[in-house]
Amino acid sequence: MPYKFSFDLSRISKAFFRDLANIANQKGLHKKLGGQARHLAEKFRIHEITGLDVSDALVLVEDLVDIYVRNLSNAQSFQETKKRVLFLPHCARKYMDNRCKAHFDPKLPSYVCGHCSKDCLINNATHLAEKKGYKVFVLPGGSCIPEILKRDGYKGVIGVACSDELKMAGEYMQRLGSFGQAIPLTKNGCANTQFNLATLQKVMA
Ligand code: SF4
Repeated sequence: MPYKFSFDLSRISKAFFRDLANIANQKGLHKKLGGQARHLAEKFRIHEITGLDVSDALVLVEDLVDIYVRNLSNAQSFQETKKRVLFLPHCARKYMDNRCKAHFDPKLPSYVCGHCSKDCLINNATHLAEKKGYKVFVLPGGSCIPEILKRDGYKGVIGVACSDELKMAGEYMQRLGSFGQAIPLTKNGCANTQFNLATLQKVMA
């Protein structure tokens, strides 16, 4: 189920994401996941800064911890894959109207970036990924991902999406024998969504 709330973590300290990674590194985490997530949400005042309800902030942080834990457990297998793909969300395009020069190719299916804006996240992520040999898909939704993975046989998958979608994707990728690394959006919504390009670059390295 998609979140019923919107969030923007862009004003949260970078230390929050460092602490998330540290928590994911701890042994025996699953037993105390709820407590750790609560502690993190309180320490970084997530609900105050984002304006979320305390319970929504907690759900969000729990999902993020879950994603970081899964990334860590898949990291080695992901590094060993040869054929890789990057899935990006179309809502992170700089423009959502006809100023965006991407065209949609239904055969892929994907938007193909026209590289109209140097400061567009999709443009930058596409450049970085293609230089590293990734096939890039800019998707209007996640429902076609299982079909693409089956059709093209990608084994290493990086997905940029909202945390709730990433959690679901992690489960079916395991069933398909692919190994994923997930980059959660730092701002969700239908347009102008954001993710951390430096994190993506690090994961692709
Ligand atoms: S750089 Fe690409 S994705 Fe971004 S607005 Fe331009 S054409 Fe669209």
